[in-house]
Amino acid sequence: MMDELPASPAKLKSWDQACVWHPFTPMKQYQSRDPLIIVAGEGVKLLDSDGRWYYDGVSSLWLNVHGHRVPMIDRAITEQLGRIAHSTLLGLGNVPSIMLARRLVDLAPQGLTKVFYSECGASAVEIALKLSIQYFANLGRVGKTRILGFTGNYHGDTLGAVGVAKDELFHGPFMSLLPEHPRAAYPHCYRCPLGLARDHCAMECLAEVKKQIDAEADHLAAVIFEPVEGAGGIIPAPEGFLTGLREACTKSDVLLIVDEVATGIGRTAKLFACEHEGVTPDLMCLGKGLTGGYLPLAATLATNQVFDAFLGEVEERKTFFHGHSYTGNPLSCAAALASLDLLEDLLPALPQQATLYRDLLAPLSGHPFVGDIRTSGLMAGIELVAEKAGRIPFRYRDRAGYVVTELAREFGLINRPIGNVVILMPPLASSDAELEEMVAALRMAFDRATPALEVLARRAVRS
Ligand code: PMP
Repeated sequence: MMDELPASPAKLKSWDQACVWHPFTPMKQYQSRDPLIIVAGEGVKLLDSDGRWYYDGVSSLWLNVHGHRVPMIDRAITEQLGRIAHSTLLGLGNVPSIMLARRLVDLAPQGLTKVFYSECGASAVEIALKLSIQYFANLGRVGKTRILGFTGNYHGDTLGAVGVAKDELFHGPFMSLLPEHPRAAYPHCYRCPLGLARDHCAMECLAEVKKQIDAEADHLAAVIFEPVEGAGGIIPAPEGFLTGLREACTKSDVLLIVDEVATGIGRTAKLFACEHEGVTPDLMCLGKGLTGGYLPLAATLATNQVFDAFLGEVEERKTFFHGHSYTGNPLSCAAALASLDLLEDLLPALPQQATLYRDLLAPLSGHPFVGDIRTSGLMAGIELVAEKAGRIPFRYRDRAGYVVTELAREFGLINRPIGNVVILMPPLASSDAELEEMVAALRMAFDRATPALEVLARRAVRS
């Protein structure tokens, strides 16, 4: 595989540093270190340009489901290439997008009957936001133009998505472009916004949100919610919270958007996280794993109730004027269909796999700087704290999570931190033995990181 490289590894590295501006990457620091260039993948492993194999412990950013170079998905894409690579969905149909839409409607929580395609999770969210606002406009319900979002939720990097998930750190420079939307506190049990403990509380946070929805209903088009806060640090909402939100939205005539871009397609051990509570949202956003991690594709699923509000005579202007060039791309849809075929075989084993995964990670709680381990299916967030008793966070600038994940590479594991939370999110097709090896590599990285974390912890506690 190495023979096929277009240039030497050294050249590729220097061109990478010279020409590629990497997303979410502090480029000054990136340019001062030896970059890791992926040249190939096989199963749940990635090969770098120096000939080293690593576990793909981040599923290539939470996308990969069945591993890399999966014959069935490769074949589906190649066969589709033999027919057509792309044709537009603006006013035309194409075969894979039709077949996939039917499939998604069959699989999704009952009542979600329409599929609007796009290419990335952020777009799926933009579409849900716009649909919910236009839904009320089409019904003549003036003033319902606000979206209630949750603190720490992440919905993508386009402006609409950023507007409902404002974060000082990431979005400070763009505040002038962002509308005012109300916020509610996400139910983060390790750092409870109300200072309560989950063992004793009565989910007072839910009661607060319900009150807020009720009070602001005249202005609210929708509530948008991540059932497991992903980029916020893998924080599963407590059981019952989503059900409570559904009830509150229905009661107050506010649409419920569930962002399943990260949680959907099996990541939480069910096909969709909504299934854990038997909830049907009005709009559901999918992306990431939809094609098994092969090609860009996202979808916003809607109920008939939402869809019907967009039907009317041309002069009524009820049409949803939104669309992207590659919407419903046939190659992506063909990959998604093949991936869903494979997933149906995997699904029954996912709950057992999730239990094994949780048990494998549990001993890490004995590490002196591990404050909390949170899992949902194969999503795991391990929160580092400078002091366990006080749950004192490491300082942002010290990049404690990064210290661990950099060391993990030495043990053959690629994963990424989010601030002080070390994320591990292996492909769903990982075998038990592969999960064990990934967790073992992570454990060695934690152990190796201890002296460095001790220094950083002293700084954090003093500051
Ligand atoms: N919503 C959630 C919950 C996500 O985790 C992400 C991406 N991490 C997005 C939306 C945005 O998806 P994309 O990066 O494909 O735009």
